[in-house]
Amino acid sequence: GYSQIDPPDVTELGRSTWTFLHSLAATYPVTASTTQQSEMLQFLTIFSKIYPCWFCAKDFKTYIEKEETKPKVKTQEEFGRWLCEAHNEVNRKVGKKEFDCGLWRERWKDGWDDVEKKSKN
Ligand code: FAD
Repeated sequence: GYSQIDPPDVTELGRSTWTFLHSLAATYPVTASTTQQSEMLQFLTIFSKIYPCWFCAKDFKTYIEKEETKPKVKTQEEFGRWLCEAHNEVNRKVGKKEFDCGLWRERWKDGWDDVEKKSKN
């Protein structure tokens, strides 16, 4: 047969998409302008309608529309934390371990190099 790679399933698509989404947070402005905030909210709204796993998209759309869990996009820290919480919601739903959101920067922005040093200081 053809020696190509198969289309992504829900798992593969999810892993790649979380990499993309957390990278968005890692490069998001430390303090976002109103335009940048508005654009990120628009992106998340559209994303929740076109994500290519329809049942995933449906639940994510419900999540971002709920008053208590609406996207927080004023700062990089706030957005990174919000995204981590949103990802944890999916982790709970699919029976995966929750991630410690105090460590989102180490995982997606700064790396783990200085974590031990920091905790010793
Ligand atoms: P992933 O969950 O893909 O995570 C990748 C890596 O991110 C992990 O290895 C870890 O290092 C890190 N990580 C884990 N949790 C967090 C966190 N909270 N914050 C920051 N970093 C973290 N799958 C379904 O079966 N049903 C669904 O309804 C569903 N909905 C989804 C909705 C969205 C919006 C997305 C993007 C994905 C969805 N998925 C869903 C896919 C699912 O979330 C996983 O991506 C997939 O199961 C692969 O899991 P994984 O173990 O490779 O780790």
